[in-house]
Amino acid sequence: MRTALITGVAGQDGSYLAEFLLEKGYRVHGLARRIESAAVWRIAHLLPGEDDPEPRFFLHEGDILDAGFLRGLIDETQPDELYNLAGQSHVGLSFIQPARTMAVIATGTATVLEALHVHCRASGRQVRFYQAGSSEMFGDSSPPQNEDTVFRPRSPYGVAKLAAHNATTVYRDAYGLFACNGILFNHESPRRGENFVTRKVTLAAARIAAGQQNRLALGDLSVRRDWGHAADYVRAMWLMLQQEEPEDYVIATGQSHTIGDLLEIALGLAGLDWRRHVVSDPACRRPLEVDHLCGDAGKAARLLGWRPTVGFEALVAEMVEADLARYGLRPAQ
Ligand code: GDP
Repeated sequence: MRTALITGVAGQDGSYLAEFLLEKGYRVHGLARRIESAAVWRIAHLLPGEDDPEPRFFLHEGDILDAGFLRGLIDETQPDELYNLAGQSHVGLSFIQPARTMAVIATGTATVLEALHVHCRASGRQVRFYQAGSSEMFGDSSPPQNEDTVFRPRSPYGVAKLAAHNATTVYRDAYGLFACNGILFNHESPRRGENFVTRKVTLAAARIAAGQQNRLALGDLSVRRDWGHAADYVRAMWLMLQQEEPEDYVIATGQSHTIGDLLEIALGLAGLDWRRHVVSDPACRRPLEVDHLCGDAGKAARLLGWRPTVGFEALVAEMVEADLARYGLRPAQ
């Protein structure tokens, strides 16, 4: 039985990846900073019952900035694959908490890499490593962005992710670590945090339809993003670690949409005209914006055979349907 260790297991991607690996027959160890029930709702259904004869999912509480703890966790769990998904994941928040964002993403990744390196050297084991990189690293480089596009980050989050990306490459080159950088474009799902624009919009659509909210305050509506489904994207993470050689890959749908497109579909599905509800709020704008992200995942298609299975409209429909269901409602169309 193969064993995986996932940092950030309680996040959107961690939960989909844990599900995916358990279905593949893996033993999965997940690390979360806090494990009280409010913090782990996305993975609650995976936790084994008290009388489970053969549990395969194990939750650990700890912080990736604690080097000694991390080393002990890797020694104890003996993973074959380590997926580093932990970190402060919100670009807007990174302008308010730049130092914390840099610490947990950049220093945190360096801490994980060094703990892994020391473990591999001491034990003679091979552990494959996945680093969760982001399209935010491209910043204002023109689309379509691929693996050869210059990184020009425009946020503390982008800077931190780029440091983690570069650290991963250094460990691959210096020590022969089987390490892959995934450069994932925006990926969403009904499990997306409520402060990301897709979920903010689908939740508002449901609340407005239920008569519990009237206005939806947003920032810049003209930005374009390449939005895919998180379940498709975690499959790409796993595929990267199954190849002969470690490489970096862009994962994207290749289609971009504006926030206006998102509003049209989401509020439309809730039977609403978005122009009657959306208000512009300067507080929702960022000090610096990334205008257009649209990825070219040709390399992943060629080498991994990876293609997205869920398009933008189906993604938004799934999210709206899930949020409407919270209020006992169904899509209007
Ligand atoms: P990001 O691409 O990782 O920053 O994902 P987000 O979902 O947080 O934001 C996507 C885009 O939507 C960014 O360009 C934001 O500036 C823009 N946006 C406009 N209004 C809002 C808002 O009210 N909340 C968020 N989160 N983003 C907004």
